[in-house]
Amino acid sequence: MEKKGSLLKEQYELLINGEHVPSSSGEYFDTYNPATEEAIARVAKATREDVDRAVSAARNALENSKWARWPASRRGQILNRIALIMRERFDELVELEVLNSGKALSAAKGQVMQAIEDFELYAGAVTTIAGATKPVPSGFFHYTVKEPIGVCAQIVPWNYPLMMAAWKVAPALAAGCTIILKPASLTPLTALVLADICHEAGVPAGVINVITGSGADVGAYLTEHPGVDKVAFTGETTTGKDIMARASETLKRVTLELGGKSPNIVFEDADLEAAANGSVFGIFYNTGQSCEARSRLFVHESVYDAFLERFVEKTKKLKLGNPLDESTQVGALISQGQWDTVHSYVQLAKEEGARVLYGGKRPEGEAFAKGHWYEPTILVDVTNDMRVAQEEIFGPVVVVIKFKDEKEVIQLANDSIYGLAAALWTKDFSRAHRVAGQLKAGVVMINNPFSTFPGLPFGGYKQSGFGRELAIESLELYMETKSVLSYV
Ligand code: NAD
Repeated sequence: MEKKGSLLKEQYELLINGEHVPSSSGEYFDTYNPATEEAIARVAKATREDVDRAVSAARNALENSKWARWPASRRGQILNRIALIMRERFDELVELEVLNSGKALSAAKGQVMQAIEDFELYAGAVTTIAGATKPVPSGFFHYTVKEPIGVCAQIVPWNYPLMMAAWKVAPALAAGCTIILKPASLTPLTALVLADICHEAGVPAGVINVITGSGADVGAYLTEHPGVDKVAFTGETTTGKDIMARASETLKRVTLELGGKSPNIVFEDADLEAAANGSVFGIFYNTGQSCEARSRLFVHESVYDAFLERFVEKTKKLKLGNPLDESTQVGALISQGQWDTVHSYVQLAKEEGARVLYGGKRPEGEAFAKGHWYEPTILVDVTNDMRVAQEEIFGPVVVVIKFKDEKEVIQLANDSIYGLAAALWTKDFSRAHRVAGQLKAGVVMINNPFSTFPGLPFGGYKQSGFGRELAIESLELYMETKSVLSYV
């Protein structure tokens, strides 16, 4: 674990107007490796004055660089170059992500690859940016033009640090916007490196700026800043509400990708082996720190015992350990704070009458003495009204709930303030699509545990947010449509 990736430096500065600059206060904060608790780098702690500088740089680049006025295909070329450099530095990016997040190497590899593919997708998608002419009364001529929304504040969480940054940066660049990116304080490193790669690929100075520091201070300040036109945020639902309120003062465009408590339904006719494998992945991937984690597992009463036996067996076999080890499947939690939250929910579950079927504590052994390790945890005897079934835990904890029939499980699955994702397992094709149609979720997975590909829209219903990430849908949300009407 002492090994330092070549992208890991002792100290990182802010990135404003194409230059690495210290914070105006000269202050730094430490960033850690969650698997070992060792400090791995010092990072500049931005002030509000730094935010002002970053917003001015982004505004200046929007209005005075050619970025927004270039033919879209030229921006596409640069996006391709970004992807190419990321491919060349793939192993280093993966290593840096693992060191700063504690996630398993295998998970980081998939996420870095998806980040690369996002840039490739939008490199092509720029060719779809087009206006239109609409029928108008004779004597008139009309056309529409797509224009970049402008200066965008992009605020991302710690669970997928690079991938979440790519989901936001790639479509914004494709649209011709300029950016102030704010990574989570716990995981700032790969976002900083991504911005360097953007410059290396030819993105002009000021088009992408990175501010590192406290969400409650500089993050909040960014969201109310009059120089910002749009806020794209991924994080907790409570933070999303705060951001929406602040952004409303100047009516900024807002997209919110928020929390979830996604249902995972195993019907009586499911392929139990596939369902058990998919359900283990669905909750324990990324140590359960996924917005789309399928954390409410509904199992039909007639297959409850048979399914649970397989599910527990497979959970027990998950390999926890050094996140840089190829064979590790479950990494560490991000922080002591997150560990305490997860553990307090397990304690709460017991008080609510649930039973810990597996897990519920720090794994045993010398390897787990340091670092924020938590066993994959299965809670049974849970009802959907318990807090552990309603609140997002954001850790490797699944609640299992028995159901009797399709109508009941649809009602239970939808009985949540969230609506990000849902999964279902059945061999009955008609039922699969009938149920998918009734689930209040932005993404539905049928007999499959994967929820995202760059070309598919991703986002929530209800308090899981609004707007969509990825695909053409996200690109559209970085553009305004101007309608031009003239006499001929
Ligand atoms: P968080 O809300 O605490 O922080 C997210 C980001 O917002 C960080 O960069 C943080 O510094 C910043 N921030 C915090 N307070 C702020 C404020 N008042 N104003 C502006 N910025 C502020 O979330 P987190 O703990 O980093 O991430 C976990 C959450 O993210 C979970 O709820 C998870 O479900 C959600 N998430 C959602 C998606 C999705 O696509 N729907 C994807 C990943 C994570």
